[in-house]
Amino acid sequence: MNTLHPALFIGHGSPLQAIEPTRYSAVWQQLGQSLPRPRAILCVSAHWYTQGTAVTQAQKPATIHDFYGFPAPMYQLRYPAPGDPALAARVQALLAPTMVHGDHEWGLDHGSWVVLRYLYPAADIPVVQLSIDATLPPREHYELGRRLRALRAEGVLLLGSGDVVHNLRVMQRNEHAPAYPWASQFNDEARAAILAGDHESLIDFHRLGGAAAPGEKPGSAARLSVPTPEHYLPLLYVLGAQAEGEVASIPVDGIDLGSISMLCVQLDG
Ligand code: ZN
Repeated sequence: MNTLHPALFIGHGSPLQAIEPTRYSAVWQQLGQSLPRPRAILCVSAHWYTQGTAVTQAQKPATIHDFYGFPAPMYQLRYPAPGDPALAARVQALLAPTMVHGDHEWGLDHGSWVVLRYLYPAADIPVVQLSIDATLPPREHYELGRRLRALRAEGVLLLGSGDVVHNLRVMQRNEHAPAYPWASQFNDEARAAILAGDHESLIDFHRLGGAAAPGEKPGSAARLSVPTPEHYLPLLYVLGAQAEGEVASIPVDGIDLGSISMLCVQLDG
């Protein structure tokens, strides 16, 4: 009998998808319709990157428009899902002895709501966000994910929202831009490791992808693909919550704007 709720990591890409649907957002929408309905959602978003770990405790989390220079209608969008203080308390208990600060300042950032508006447009499922502690090494994020696995047996959707490859500095503002070879290389190796259940390679991601170009040192593809770790780390929470022998699948994949991976991972439960 399946007792674990599915879990998702979603490559969220550009915030613009909030008003301009893509082939990726079409898949998110389809997942929302096909997966069993969760009783609540715990989201680990790349856009809440903090010193120490925190969890949102608000009854009514605000929609945060944490981006700049986008079209005005983007700032009108809301995702009025309720919070779930009891789930926040459960998360604090599960992650002990790691101290998890109960937060009333943050709400739902665009890493959460851009994706959730497609997954569950009615915004009627409670959502709690967990922050990513910038001071922890990758293995400890994976370990936190492992402790969150219990939530999957309680009907909670664990949702990681980031991008396996995320380099804004060299991003091409052209939707037809080809992927940089190092971005494809890193993304392909990450994808293969996910499908093989090779979590060690994914925790130690600095070696994935090899050299960015002939003559460069091994590891240069990873340095370009993950120049800062906040968009990569939500993946490790989801993989940490993967059960022994559980199948991972890839509902959609691609590299957008040359250097942004849209790879999505589903744990089937
Ligand atoms: Zn982002």
